[in-house]
Amino acid sequence: MPIRILDEDVVARIAAGEVVERPASVVKELLENSLDADASNVHIEANSGGQRLIRVSDDGTGIPANEVELAFTRHATSKLRSSDDLFSIKTLGFRGEALASIAAVSRINVVSRHRSESSGTQLKIEGGQLLQHNRAGAPEGTVISVENLFYNTPARLKFLKAENTEKRQITTIVTRYAMAYPHVRFTLMQDSREVFRSSGSGRLGDVVVQVMGLDNFKRMVEVSSEERLENGNVLRVQGYVSEPGLHRTDRSRIILFVNGRSILDAGLTHAVTQAYHTLLMTGRYPYAVLMIETPPDFVDVNVHPTKAEVRFQDANMAFVAVQRAVRRTVVDLASTQSVQMRQQPIFAPGVPLKKRWEDSGYEPAQRESSWQMDMELPLNDPGGFRRQSFDDVDEAQTAIPYGPSGPAKPRTLPMLRVVGQVGATYIVTEGPAGMYLIDQHAAHERILYEQFMENYARQETLSQLTLEAQVIHLPAAEAQLLEANFLILASLGFDLEPFGPNSYAIRSLPALLADQDPAAVVAEIVQDLERDQKPGHESIEDKIIKRVCKQAAVKAGQILSLDEMRGLIRQLERCQSPLTCPHGRPTLLHMSTDQLAREFGRMG
Ligand code: ADP
Ligand code: MG
Repeated sequence: MPIRILDEDVVARIAAGEVVERPASVVKELLENSLDADASNVHIEANSGGQRLIRVSDDGTGIPANEVELAFTRHATSKLRSSDDLFSIKTLGFRGEALASIAAVSRINVVSRHRSESSGTQLKIEGGQLLQHNRAGAPEGTVISVENLFYNTPARLKFLKAENTEKRQITTIVTRYAMAYPHVRFTLMQDSREVFRSSGSGRLGDVVVQVMGLDNFKRMVEVSSEERLENGNVLRVQGYVSEPGLHRTDRSRIILFVNGRSILDAGLTHAVTQAYHTLLMTGRYPYAVLMIETPPDFVDVNVHPTKAEVRFQDANMAFVAVQRAVRRTVVDLASTQSVQMRQQPIFAPGVPLKKRWEDSGYEPAQRESSWQMDMELPLNDPGGFRRQSFDDVDEAQTAIPYGPSGPAKPRTLPMLRVVGQVGATYIVTEGPAGMYLIDQHAAHERILYEQFMENYARQETLSQLTLEAQVIHLPAAEAQLLEANFLILASLGFDLEPFGPNSYAIRSLPALLADQDPAAVVAEIVQDLERDQKPGHESIEDKIIKRVCKQAAVKAGQILSLDEMRGLIRQLERCQSPLTCPHGRPTLLHMSTDQLAREFGRMG
């Protein structure tokens, strides 16, 4: 084919693909426009996961009658004049691309009335073509309805995820903006059901309660700090973070905003988790909702088509500031908790000492020295969080940093006391009936496997976007194998998008694998799929899940801190099948007190 310039409408559809990846991206763009237009009320409706209909109504400034058509033209914006403005952007939008992109791949109906005008304007646009333009009576503000999204881009349509996934994404977007704009009242209806509503009270806490639930919110503490950066700028960090007792296996509840913009930033997310260093076991992550405010010229928002990423003038400074703000909050919390605990009696009369050790999960050795340890800096001693609640009988209710979150599951192993680690591979523990030697990798695989299966059963597979979609190239046969299993992979959190012949862009992975190299992960899975190609949905699925857990589990040879080991053992104690790893190998060896005695010649 000779080289030629592409037709306008082809260019428009290609460009649209960058901004409008899925229904939730449309919701995001329309919401941002409403917020930029100073709306106090934003009402969102979505039907069939946004594919049939997305409608966003606001009571913002509206669009002047003579500009409505222009608003749907590419690179038309009222928010930016010259490239200098790019360094001081205060609005969410600035590219002038969203409306044109959405219009190119859907049927749009817009009604808008500007504040200063007495009547409104209505437009109908289909696949980028203007069909109708007339005056219309309308209240102040804007209503944009987007129907049949991607009707003219079948490839995109084909790769939309299950309706439920899209619905969840839409809810995620709306709830995030509701948190960033607590003074705006949001309502979200999906398939005519109200899914979310925020009060518009202006208090972030009120919205966090709505989004995270009251129970979780009660276990979060307020962060409010101003960090002076080396360059003299001030970076403000405000919001809520979880106490160390509240955590989960993925980073999906670390929600960050920079200057009112919801962002994905691996560096800052890491800064938040780092603030919990030694307080959370490897593989456990806190909850956080943080609003980070910087002078506009300290961040570049113009680095990503959907504006989901930002670049800081000095990423390291931003990292340090966020980490410090969160760390200080968590440290303060630790010291107040440790003071409270000091006022509690250690020995309650009438309960045999041994019984209470067992009930509390509290090791005798530590218990004896706990008074002295209280005087020390709490963060050097993560056990401080456990000590404050050692009198509680139900340990799941205590603030143990690493137990499984959620309601307590029945215990399947006796309470085991961690003695130490052997060869950076095995954990030595003591239980009521002797010694238990635990394979850390196998045990962690078991824990992750049961957690994954549980989430999966609740259709709550957690996936995490990869930061830069890596592209993997495969031999044709392997590519076919991969494609044959696309649906299963998608249901497990792998979002792979065809990217040329036998090539796939890896857009997301199961959240458990967030730390791993995406290409290596997928390559291993393809190998697994190849190895024994037993027919049947179940077995393939299970095989992939096991592989995911294996990759995510702590490895043999990894040195664990005492607290990490305790966290791991606490979780194993409540697994349904704690004795074997998902592949059927043993997780623990038991040597009974009798056996020990016999071996040492203490019997008979
Ligand atoms: P951008 O937001 O980057 O400017 P868009 O394509 O999203 O680009 O919107 C184009 C223009 O249309 C905006 O600059 C704004 O002037 C106008 N506009 C879009 N949505 C609204 C709205 N809900 N209320 C008022 N004006 C709007
Ligand atoms: Mg916009």
